[in-house]
Amino acid sequence: MKTAAQAKTILEQLERQHPDAQCELDFGTPFQLLVAVILSAQCTDKRVNEVTPKLFADYSTPEQFAAMPQETLERYIFSCGFYHNKAAHIISAAKDIVERFRGEVPSTIEELMTLAGVGRKTANVVYAVAFGGNAIAVDTHVLRLANRIGFVDSDRPVDAENALTKAFAPEDWSAAHHALIFHGRYVCTARAPKCGECFIREYCDMYASLNKR
Ligand code: SF4
Repeated sequence: MKTAAQAKTILEQLERQHPDAQCELDFGTPFQLLVAVILSAQCTDKRVNEVTPKLFADYSTPEQFAAMPQETLERYIFSCGFYHNKAAHIISAAKDIVERFRGEVPSTIEELMTLAGVGRKTANVVYAVAFGGNAIAVDTHVLRLANRIGFVDSDRPVDAENALTKAFAPEDWSAAHHALIFHGRYVCTARAPKCGECFIREYCDMYASLNKR
């Protein structure tokens, strides 16, 4: 496990290695971000960004999505994969927003998680990116890195979120989230981590265990 001081140093090094770390999804409103985050499950942000310009040009508001036939939405988002479930979740969430939140995406994690099809990870991303809240959303990259670096020893996202939110100061949560995602995408990749290029290797448990004499 890592101390708060080690976590701070790790974040500084990650931010040095990834000065542009931020949400890579394109969106114009909190609702569009919510749609993009749902589409990004099991899909790359790049692919989502190829799909959403046309979709958001034709349909933009929760009211429009709530009234959209599911088959119509499926045609727009087909290439993102799992299009049937994603379309159902997006339309259900849009209906919830219209019926229970007067057409405005709620701004707390607890309320976001009451929307159909919105889990903890999606709620954390929307809360942090759209509303500037402090949160660490645990996706596949964050979970993998939290284990490799040594913040946690668990395959459960909730354990990783608890460990990371303890290790990092609340004001650093969103920065840590984006820095870890960028590091997972571009350096500490799932199959072939580039440890030789990694700015945090001296703090990484996996690197230490692989390089024991
Ligand atoms: S040293 Fe290697 S395993 Fe550890 S964080 Fe860096 S790239 Fe990943």
